Amino acid sequence: MTSVDTTIQRIRLTGKPSSSDALCTTDLVESPWNFDAVPGYGPGSSMSDVIPTGAPRQGVLPEEYRTASADELDRRIRHAKGVLGDRLVILGHHYQRDEIIRYADFVGDSFQLANAAQTVPSAEAIVFCGVHFMAETADILAQTGQSVILPNLAAGCSMADMADIDSVASAWAELERIYGTEPDAQGRQPIVPVTYMNSSAALKGFCGQHGGIVCTSSNAQTVLEWAFERGQRVLFFPDQHLGRNTAKAMGITPEQMPLWNPHKPLGGNTEQQLVDARVLLWHGFCSVHKRFTTDQIDRARIDHPGVRVIVHPECPMPVVDAADEAGSTDYILTAVAAATEPTTFAIGTEINMVSRLAAEYPQHTIFCLDPVICPCSTMYRIHPGYLAWVLEALVRGEVLNQITVEPGVASTAKIALERMLAARPAG
Ligand code: SF4
Repeated sequence: MTSVDTTIQRIRLTGKPSSSDALCTTDLVESPWNFDAVPGYGPGSSMSDVIPTGAPRQGVLPEEYRTASADELDRRIRHAKGVLGDRLVILGHHYQRDEIIRYADFVGDSFQLANAAQTVPSAEAIVFCGVHFMAETADILAQTGQSVILPNLAAGCSMADMADIDSVASAWAELERIYGTEPDAQGRQPIVPVTYMNSSAALKGFCGQHGGIVCTSSNAQTVLEWAFERGQRVLFFPDQHLGRNTAKAMGITPEQMPLWNPHKPLGGNTEQQLVDARVLLWHGFCSVHKRFTTDQIDRARIDHPGVRVIVHPECPMPVVDAADEAGSTDYILTAVAAATEPTTFAIGTEINMVSRLAAEYPQHTIFCLDPVICPCSTMYRIHPGYLAWVLEALVRGEVLNQITVEPGVASTAKIALERMLAARPAG
């Protein structure tokens, strides 16, 4: 299977997408730097994704990188990488395009990558080919003297941006007014904050400060069990779907998990609903995983009898319920790698990872549940042109696009991350 980029370039050259490779927007055939001056998440983002005022913006990429051919960029990146040697580590998230992944020293999810960087203490520069919150986490875990670099500052995450520190702090104040701050007879706090890894450092810090914790899509249930040992309720942000799917698997009913809309008084709930709640779900979602539907699953089952449908838990609950399995990127990779017989997989996660899996495992039939090509718009902002730009600057001794978390925030965020590492499944 060809890479997503190659398919998009072919469409650009021929102007003729076939029925099997329709794009969610024709803007995908443009180069990412055409969008750097425009506030927004870029081609492929959802209409409902509103970028916050003050979100980091990428300046103009120098012309030599915008006009260089793919071969020239490849030569320059490899040369810079060779010169920098073990003073550099390049991290590539699973959702990055193949044209970036080929240079990555480590490929993984955000937390795996932040930890992987720490296995290379000689690395003065950690170049994170992912999105902003991932670079922040890497900076929190980095050692003194290491710089974390995000090749394109416009690579944010629309889901992470749906919960900001001011809205969460004001929700917290409202909840404390209703619940009070006194523990119950078992010593459990009225409410414990839990943030998904896909959130700003400020929110991880908030959790560290308020007896809360971070979770990933691999350990969300273990983390919720940890939180319920210490609290009567959980405020879960920013992804409502991961929170809902995980809580449902733990036997929590829909009535016990109201949605908290930060734009409405009491989050859009009555005081009684909040008193009865067990998990308050922040009104956030991933635009990529929201595209998956039960109709797509029905179609896959008709077209491919016996298909194994695996979706990411950031998908809406009906999609998770209709799938055969749901799990993190790591779960999906492991499930495919472990299949000993030729199998047909329909996967509900970002298209770059799915097409890479299809290429790596030709003995299986692997396809994305969504027939429309729509990569994560912000992951897609990282292009080899930006990578060459930041690497050649490092060769000259210049650090561009450094992501730094303020030390006070980093220390409380680290507490929440350490609690996650220490959390163990209920025995
Ligand atoms: S796939 Fe979704 S959650 Fe992940 S970076 Fe993109 S928008 Fe954010």
